[in-house]
Amino acid sequence: MKAHDAMYIGGQWRPAAGRDTIAVVNPADEQVIGHVPAGTAEDVDAAVRAARDAFAGWAATPPAERAAKIAALRDVLVARKDEIAETVTAELGSPPPFSQMVHAGVPIAVAGSYAELAATYSFEAKVGNSTVLLEPVGVVGAITPWNYPLHQIVAKVAPALAAGCTVVLKPAEDTPLTAQLFAEAVEEAGIPAGVFNLVTGLGPVAGQALAEHEGVDLVSFTGSTAVGKQIGATAGAAVKRVALELGGKSANVILPSADLAKAVGAGIANVMANSGQTCSAWTRMLVHEDQYDEAVAIAATAVAKYSVGDRVGPLVNAKQQARVRGYIEKGIEEGARVVAGGPEVPLDTGYYVAPTVFADVTPDMTIAQEEIFGPVVSILKYADEAQALRIANGTVYGLAGAVWAADEAEAVAFARRMDTGQVDINGGRFNPLAPFGGYKQSGVGRELGAHGLSEYLQTKSLQF
Ligand code: NAP
Ligand code: MG
Repeated sequence: MKAHDAMYIGGQWRPAAGRDTIAVVNPADEQVIGHVPAGTAEDVDAAVRAARDAFAGWAATPPAERAAKIAALRDVLVARKDEIAETVTAELGSPPPFSQMVHAGVPIAVAGSYAELAATYSFEAKVGNSTVLLEPVGVVGAITPWNYPLHQIVAKVAPALAAGCTVVLKPAEDTPLTAQLFAEAVEEAGIPAGVFNLVTGLGPVAGQALAEHEGVDLVSFTGSTAVGKQIGATAGAAVKRVALELGGKSANVILPSADLAKAVGAGIANVMANSGQTCSAWTRMLVHEDQYDEAVAIAATAVAKYSVGDRVGPLVNAKQQARVRGYIEKGIEEGARVVAGGPEVPLDTGYYVAPTVFADVTPDMTIAQEEIFGPVVSILKYADEAQALRIANGTVYGLAGAVWAADEAEAVAFARRMDTGQVDINGGRFNPLAPFGGYKQSGVGRELGAHGLSEYLQTKSLQF
């Protein structure tokens, strides 16, 4: 695992302005695997200047050439896929097969989709006597979390570059090695100096300096709702574009006609993936009262397959482990019934949490309202469809969800009434071109596909 003792700014690895560093820890064995510089406002300023200097040239580069550079970047990611997976496993702790398939595989697919979109997208449109030009917004400040370290970076950088924007990235302090590897890939792909810049550092220092910088035209943030609100307020005060990809508390609605075993099994798998550290995870399972006991029994059996340390990795750090265990204790305190797992630490070393299933969860409980971000599923009971819908829509979030029914049309009719940005029907698979983003407090703006690209464009209308 290579750690750079430098920032990637203006096409060069440059020493940081300050001397502070961040220790990168492997959450599976708690060993320090490297150090990266903790950037300051000075580093952010240098990076924003580099991005500003590169902007006019990159914006004027024909879309087909930008597309070719993004395709080259995708090719480097493909060539370095094993290294990406190993790095994510080392700093996030996710099991190697999941790192290969998802942490490395999905960003490759997304980078590929933007290579194609950049080449085919119409950056000009006719509306009556007007020609509408779709122009890049400018310098983007991207702030990303640790849960899908490369995906979150690529889901911002690829569309920004396709649009003709330049970028300064501040990745999560827990997963900076993946971000450094990405910067190496950018360099290897021959993307011009200053188009992409990396400043590693702490959120309240480097992250805040980036969000507040006058030279940044658009802030794209993924992470907690608390920080998202702050960034939204800062951007609002400066009349700056902002995209916020925040938390979720998504519902997995199993209608009575559904294949119960399949729906419950898929629901458990969905939450256990990435140790439950997925903003769109279906953490609330909604089951009809007549099928409730059967569903709970199926869930308890299904979760037993998720062995700790093998199929379920650790949480990213000790703080998240403590936070998730705190939620499990809170669930017990508020009267929910543990049918699998619990707050006890399952392994002596590593930040593991036992895969946990709660039954008898009511909609007002903390574990049914707040984002836990760990391998914890709550099973709730409904009497009829109207109540199922009230429960599904009854949180401040609206990021994702699932509906299961014997008849696809029945599931779709229910999905239409859900206040949420994405719904998987009977286990519909991930589509890297579909817009991803939240209703309500799950966020502002969309990522992926053409919708994700348009976030980085502004319109200019010419009348003839
Ligand atoms: P977070 O603090 O919101 O982290 C997200 C990113 O924002 C990181 O790069 C972080 O830097 C940075 N940041 C933190 N404070 C900032 C500030 N004042 N100004 C600018 N940037 C700032 O999230 P977290 O503490 O890692 O996780 C806490 C909870 O957030 C989780 O339990 C989960 O509920 C939620 N979460 C959601 C998502 C999602 O995909 N929606 C992802 C991660 C976490 P540092 O790395 O230095 O903190
Ligand atoms: Mg944080």
